[in-house]
Amino acid sequence: MHPETLAIYQNRVVDANAGAVAPPISLSTTFERDADGTFPHGHVYARTSNPNRNALELALAQLEGGFDGLAFSSGQAATMTLLLGLRPGDHVIIPDDAYHGTPALLEELFHPWGLTYTRADFTDLTHIQASIHENTRLIWIETPSNPLLKIADIQAIAALAHQAGAWCVCDNTWATPILQRPLDLGCDVVMHSTTKYIGGHSDVLSGALVFREDGELYQRVRRFQLLGGAVAAPFDCWMLLRGIKTLTTRIRAQSATALQLAEFLNRHPAVEAVYYPGLETHPGYAIAQKQMAMFGAMLSVQIKDGAEAAMAVAGHVRLFTRATSLGGVESLIEHRASVEGPNTTTPQNLLRISVGLEHADDLIADLEQALLHAKPA
Ligand SMILES: *Cc1c(COP(=O)(O)O)cnc(C)c1O
Repeated sequence: MHPETLAIYQNRVVDANAGAVAPPISLSTTFERDADGTFPHGHVYARTSNPNRNALELALAQLEGGFDGLAFSSGQAATMTLLLGLRPGDHVIIPDDAYHGTPALLEELFHPWGLTYTRADFTDLTHIQASIHENTRLIWIETPSNPLLKIADIQAIAALAHQAGAWCVCDNTWATPILQRPLDLGCDVVMHSTTKYIGGHSDVLSGALVFREDGELYQRVRRFQLLGGAVAAPFDCWMLLRGIKTLTTRIRAQSATALQLAEFLNRHPAVEAVYYPGLETHPGYAIAQKQMAMFGAMLSVQIKDGAEAAMAVAGHVRLFTRATSLGGVESLIEHRASVEGPNTTTPQNLLRISVGLEHADDLIADLEQALLHAKPA
């Protein structure tokens, strides 16, 4: 089945009690035993399993082509639980421009716990290769990256990881399984902040892991999920399943609009540079074309004349919302360096854009009028 069909058909469980077409939300924390002491529906207690969470985990596994999915209370909870699956003494390699929460977890929580890590340039395979140590157990990919939309070659990096006896994980938040399926390219695990495109409406905080196969890492991480209990709540799972039904259509429409915006910005005289992997001039274009169905709905732009000009553009948008995050139906714009704080390496004149579901012409018109303010008076 195609993903859009799968997303709807897979969720089509008509409720046995009322015949309800939309699934009920199961809020109960505890489940009844039969007279013989067994649990006829398989659920015992809500931290261990719940019908809404099971349905979500199955849907995510199917979309990513994995063996099982695990749903968490945030993307960070998913990353944290995966790292707990490693052991003190292990070494991790992450991209030098990974989502800032990933190195923050490694530095503040896992370094004292016994993990070491190296940040490498993931557009350069020799740099990753040179960062591999004897105790490297995990290589963490994130592509496209944030906020410079760098493209990492998933298949080549997964092969490097396996040669080194390490697992390969891909943070697939930005691409979604509709545009990119890392498990098919050799990764062992996919991580998602489902807060973003999977939810799709900026109203659920949640995360997930999908595993390619059963094994040591899956078993350990699943134990930590159940014991640690950073699980997604039933209502959040229900919202995410609702989001999945429209995911294919949303991400395709948003990606198509993003390409139009990138092309418009690329021609604009007030713009210094556009970062979007769908532009042929982007250094990752060839790899993106190989591993992605479309180029996604995130782009970054550097405005000529520095930080003040960039701030002026962000300050004059009318349709875009000035906010961080991504993946919702409403287009967002943000001055990225302000969000990342004083240690950021992000250029001060960079604006990051999350393209929503508005009409491309309206978004372009809004940027056009806001860009008039880029010029110093
Ligand atoms: C948002 C995000 C995360 C963190 O997820 P939360 O749901 O905010 O905890 C991780 N990776 C990427 C790429 C993200 O965009």
